[in-house]
Amino acid sequence: MSEPNGPDTSYFDYNATAPIRPEALAAVVEAMQSVGNASSMHQPGRQAAHRVDAARWQLADLLGCSPGEIIFTSGATEANNLALWAAFTAGSPLVTSPVEHPAVLETARAVTAGSPEDLVLLPVGGDGLVELDALDQVFAVRRGGVVSLMAANNETGVLTDLRVVAKAAREAGALVHTDATQLIGRLPVDVAELDVDLLSLSAHKFGGPQGVGALYVRRGSPLPHRPLLVGGGQERGWRAGTLNVAGIIGMGAAAEAAARGLGEEAERVAALRDRLERLVVGNLPDCRINGRRDQRLPGVTSITFPGVPADAVLAAMPDVAASEGSACASGAPTPSHVLLAMGLSRADADSTIRFSLGYATTDAEIEHAAQAVKRAVTQVRAALAEADGAR
Ligand code: PMP
Repeated sequence: MSEPNGPDTSYFDYNATAPIRPEALAAVVEAMQSVGNASSMHQPGRQAAHRVDAARWQLADLLGCSPGEIIFTSGATEANNLALWAAFTAGSPLVTSPVEHPAVLETARAVTAGSPEDLVLLPVGGDGLVELDALDQVFAVRRGGVVSLMAANNETGVLTDLRVVAKAAREAGALVHTDATQLIGRLPVDVAELDVDLLSLSAHKFGGPQGVGALYVRRGSPLPHRPLLVGGGQERGWRAGTLNVAGIIGMGAAAEAAARGLGEEAERVAALRDRLERLVVGNLPDCRINGRRDQRLPGVTSITFPGVPADAVLAAMPDVAASEGSACASGAPTPSHVLLAMGLSRADADSTIRFSLGYATTDAEIEHAAQAVKRAVTQVRAALAEADGAR
């Protein structure tokens, strides 16, 4: 996967966005060449609606749900907002964690702004796992409400055991939402088995186009009908506005492509990630890998290079596209809230790089990145030592 970024760039930022899959690209281009509003009654409109329906089935197959349980949105941010604004009722707890993506964390703060005592943040361990035992303590005091915990962390890849969450929530009469943006298309999923009420996803994380996603709403879930966008009857009244036909069709094509051989693909990606870690740790033995290693997404590694600022390392290896903390936060001078919640010092958080891999990552890219990291860290260390000596 090097051409779109220039011949020599290795792409290690799948958690920010994955390269579009060829199947999705072809589907988007073809869809954009056809006219038709999926709500129109004439032939082109009906054709668009028919193709949207087919995409709904493709996504439903990836999730293991029925097509009627999917609401198309503009992405996971909107899906998270839609889920929490609908599920939360003042006077009941909204339980989440400090390592959530801002699209959940800030939404949780916004929906509970009038009753901040309703917002409950569960503790997080140094390994990035949310302490799920604490759910029982929350529900011993207050029942009902909604629990929103991410399926996989975007910075460390650490996975949440959603079955444990769902069991505790069911017993307490609470709804369960999960931000599964980083999980979908990376590991096989069966939403019925996960037993969640609501699940958010974004197409561009699994090779679909940007700006399209979905919220899964379990059939029979006692979710109050509170749409964020009104002014049209689309998506069964849950999300008004003309459907993004080309985006949805592209997401469907990406879902179908991602589902093919997903288990084996996850193993291939995990082996590449493990090799990258072995090479980097072999070259730079003082670096540290963040997060619970045996409960992670296959394609992510978060590595701290103590004493070496991540921005300097990234600048010293422009041919490797990786990121500091999460891409959504980069550009802002604040350290990763996820790493801080896991107990890293600010200096260590600022010295951490996330490498995320995916379906198009190759062996050659792993070798290239490992060499580049070694060179860049050594170069930055030497420059820091020289600056220190000159003082
Ligand atoms: N949740 C998680 C865990 C994410 O990683 C992202 C993307 N960084 C989002 C939500 C938001 O996705 P989008 O920007 O596509 O709406």
